[in-house]
Amino acid sequence: MNPTANPPTVILRHCEGYDVATIRRLVREGMATMGIAPKGRTLAKPNLVSAGPLFQHAYTRPEVMEGVLLALKDRDAGMTELRVGERCGITIPTRYVFDHAGYDPMLARLGVQRSLFEEEAQVEITLSHQGRLRDSIFVPEPVAKADFFVNVPKFKSHPWTTVTFSMKNYIGLQDDRHRLIDHDHRLNEKVADLQHVIQPRLIVIDCITAGEGRMLTPIPRTMNLLIMGNNQPAIDAVCCQIIGVDPHTVEHIRLPHERGFGPIDLEQIDVQGDVTLDEARARAKGFKVGLIRVEKYFEGTHLTAYAGPPPEREATDYCWGGCPGAIEEAVEILRLFDASFDGKLPHLHVVFGNYQGPIDAKPGEKVVFIGDCATWKGQLGGKPVAIENVYQSRDTKDPRHAKHDDIYAKMVSVTAKMAQHRNDTHVRLTGCPVSVAEQVLALAFISGAKNPYFEKTEVLKFNKAYLAWRAANAGRRLRGKPYQVEGPTERGDGAPTLTAAPT
Ligand code: SF4
Repeated sequence: MNPTANPPTVILRHCEGYDVATIRRLVREGMATMGIAPKGRTLAKPNLVSAGPLFQHAYTRPEVMEGVLLALKDRDAGMTELRVGERCGITIPTRYVFDHAGYDPMLARLGVQRSLFEEEAQVEITLSHQGRLRDSIFVPEPVAKADFFVNVPKFKSHPWTTVTFSMKNYIGLQDDRHRLIDHDHRLNEKVADLQHVIQPRLIVIDCITAGEGRMLTPIPRTMNLLIMGNNQPAIDAVCCQIIGVDPHTVEHIRLPHERGFGPIDLEQIDVQGDVTLDEARARAKGFKVGLIRVEKYFEGTHLTAYAGPPPEREATDYCWGGCPGAIEEAVEILRLFDASFDGKLPHLHVVFGNYQGPIDAKPGEKVVFIGDCATWKGQLGGKPVAIENVYQSRDTKDPRHAKHDDIYAKMVSVTAKMAQHRNDTHVRLTGCPVSVAEQVLALAFISGAKNPYFEKTEVLKFNKAYLAWRAANAGRRLRGKPYQVEGPTERGDGAPTLTAAPT
């Protein structure tokens, strides 16, 4: 547990809106209360999973980050650098999201560096704690080298992990190739393992407008809260309590607690501020969390979903961290982008995991089997169909040899597959997971709805950002600098300088 946090402090402050000066003052006061002052290489990480008109409430607002950065400068105790780093949602260039989120002019104004994590060298961190999914993971160099880490997430629900507060924000530390490993029914454990890389000295959660129901296109909920703390399990536990969720039931919060990162019981947390926990609860009354099984999520729509268990049945009977949650986010993106999506979508059946029940597909209705672990045997259109499990055990996936899946390659392969099977009773999409992006592409093809990837006003900006990303990584190769640096490194379980991660 963080040595500065005994007991850990969580501060709830009323914050009327996104006024930078107010946020700066609240954060500065919070840091003073907790005795926090930044030193050395200082890195702040927002949640910029996506941004732009469709995703207005998905990300940490730039005003919050600006207030945090100014407060860090106010409390400077010897910072040698100050930067903001992130890897946004996979396939999208992070520089595109920084631009859409309004971060670039703010960072330029403050003279703060920007780190696009997928364009940084990836450093192997070795793990040795009990219960780890694997012996090492990769994170960008600025994370591995940070002396003072600041976590600045958004307060949201999440369809894969119930909620996303401070600890879930760590998924944005990894580039695509490493993030996709274990992004399945063991996702909560992956998030827990990432906690062993680094712990923040300061956490500031943007809960001024929170996000309900889902994570990419959440329903905005005015909460007028800035939540600060010095310990991740403690702050996440208090956030859970605000929305009426027992933190013991959220695996990516419970596991780090059990591993000694910090308490999740209220009596062991010093909750302060000008908003009481009861007042915060009143503001969150009826807050919708994620975690709705896919069969239920689409009840009453043209989508009928069937979900069997993923591999490794002892872990769970449902893949909370992978393909089923991705289709919920994909459909919500398409609904926002094309208001007539539900009407355009022909009746469609989607199947996940090892499902062995009936599929009620009428003549002309297509069945899409999604994910490597999809398995089914039966009759479709009067003909026998056997979908085999092609899931590869996680033991066969080595982070050192993980491959990057290019968005344009994905566009071509998904579109080609859908076209090839246009007139067939069924089609199978492989991958573990099949990402939100791929499912958006497939559903846009089937429904004929507007495809956000082909939005004319964005194509130019997207391509420019994409080319700059690829050029940056090509330039690195030309300069002979490796993209991936294999460990062991100084950070991780064995790191003597690690801020808080217990072994
Ligand atoms: S293929 Fe999809 S549903 Fe199956 S284990 Fe992987 S992520 Fe989960």
